[in-house]
Amino acid sequence: MELRKDPITRSWVIVGDDEDQPAQQGYCPFCPGSPAAPQVISTLNSGEAGAGPAIAMVHPAPLYRIEGEPHRRAEGIYDAMNTVGAHEVLVQSVRHDLELWQSSDAEISQFLQLAAQRIQDLKNDLRFKYVTLFKNFGSAAGQEYSHPVSEITATTFVPRRVLYELRASRDYYLDKERCVFCDTLNQEMRDPVRIVETRGNYVALCPFAPRVPYEIWIMPRRHESSFERSINTRAAQLADLSALIRRTLQRVMSLAEAFHMVLHTVPNTYQKSNILQYWKTVDEDYHWHVEILPVLPAKAKPYFLKEVYYTPVSSEVAAARLRKLSIP
Ligand SMILES: [Zn+2]
Ligand SMILES: [Zn+2]
Ligand SMILES: [Zn+2]
Repeated sequence: MELRKDPITRSWVIVGDDEDQPAQQGYCPFCPGSPAAPQVISTLNSGEAGAGPAIAMVHPAPLYRIEGEPHRRAEGIYDAMNTVGAHEVLVQSVRHDLELWQSSDAEISQFLQLAAQRIQDLKNDLRFKYVTLFKNFGSAAGQEYSHPVSEITATTFVPRRVLYELRASRDYYLDKERCVFCDTLNQEMRDPVRIVETRGNYVALCPFAPRVPYEIWIMPRRHESSFERSINTRAAQLADLSALIRRTLQRVMSLAEAFHMVLHTVPNTYQKSNILQYWKTVDEDYHWHVEILPVLPAKAKPYFLKEVYYTPVSSEVAAARLRKLSIP
């Protein structure tokens, strides 16, 4: 497996011939007492969560490996590097049958704290430019394990979508000296047709230009660039964020069979030299958020879907339907 850069779009892709996957075992690797439990990286037990600790483990079949150097190299006009990085599984609960939105707010808070700790810790490794936290739920979203887990990857490059956002936010800031996310939020709050729910400092909304029906973003209402810094320093607000994530996923699950959820936070600004210069206004111009992309039951899709997103439910109708759902 290696990383290759598309010379035209400048995005990195992983290329490799599929190694034989080990046959599915008759047990869950993440349940307590598993005969082949992956290596534990860290455990967090806040004591309040009834379902036991949240645990970070090494991914049993990692996309990236922690050893070695990226060895970025030219192949003619092309760029390639080794798949050096980290790939971890965050086990939200020791209970096999308790998904994130069925958990208590204390359990979700514990999971968010572990995620923030892992992101911070991986950013201490100066080889890594970006750390991604994501969750794929449902077979239509590529869920790998039936146990309730999320995943973390640390990469030697900034993934494409977030790089677009970082560049666009910086351009907007250079022009207006304001955060584009704060500006967007201010406008959305004035006419709340696309707001799904607000809770304390956090808001869930349907973006003006969604990629899929019922796409939802969750973000802080006050400007914050770094998710991990915010979670580690503003413990008092954690309950609101946990409740909003739980309630939003409950809304999503009453309409969709699967979803992708991904955190977008600042890149690794501990990275020395020109990287630091490159992202020097990132704390002012970027604003962390969680993106949730529901996967609706499959319909025939024309070929251009991947080129131009087409969503047959407008954000305003989506937000109105999501708001109307009764959530305990
Ligand atoms: Zn399990
Ligand atoms: Zn902002
Ligand atoms: Zn984003």
